Amino acid sequence: MLKIAVLYPDLLGTYGDAGNGLVVAQRAERRGIDVSLTMVEMTDQIPEADLYLLGGGEDGPQRLACELLAGQEFAPRVADGAYVVAVCAGLQLLGQSFSIEGDAVVPGLGIVDVTTRRGSSRSVGDLLVSVGDHLLVGFENHGGVTMLGEGVEPLGALRLGRGNDGSVDGYCVDRIWATYAHGPVMALNPWFADTVLAAVLARPLEPLVTMADRLYAERCQTLLRG
Ligand code: GLN
Repeated sequence: MLKIAVLYPDLLGTYGDAGNGLVVAQRAERRGIDVSLTMVEMTDQIPEADLYLLGGGEDGPQRLACELLAGQEFAPRVADGAYVVAVCAGLQLLGQSFSIEGDAVVPGLGIVDVTTRRGSSRSVGDLLVSVGDHLLVGFENHGGVTMLGEGVEPLGALRLGRGNDGSVDGYCVDRIWATYAHGPVMALNPWFADTVLAAVLARPLEPLVTMADRLYAERCQTLLRG
């Protein structure tokens, strides 16, 4: 049984990122894999899972989500081998610290060596990122600028948008992928959902072509044309 948990969609759900859970669960089920998908609310205990998903949200809920996660068995489970996909606020709160409204600096979970400060303006718009041989599409809406610590690799290089710092987007360390891309990113980028799924299952997946692939190709073309 593949266990997927979406963490606090009631706090980190502004951009529909909980849809990442639906997409990855569907893509597994369509290949005959047994899946349990849990939407973990802020009053719930965090269940044990193979894959945790974190979404984006406003500063206040982001801070609360971080405090709640710090009091739970989340970091130890990640250290023990769970996989994580984190988007925007999720990307920021896994780091050492992040700044929120009024420039207060909030300690993050310290799972990844990244730091987020406020930028001089919000980063809002389409995002296009080269990730290896793939393109990742999405949109961003955040006030944070994220600096990667030594040895932390970005998820990819920016083709369009601002991402972390105007040159790269997200990070990819051990079993954690993080991006500023909403959409939800796994619905917009079927290859990304399958990359994560194959890693969690530790085996290659049978091909699965859906309408999402055509929409993905069209979106890439549109963004590349500018
Ligand atoms: N609150 C964070 C910021 O503005 C994250 C926003 C988001 O998740 N879209 O930087």
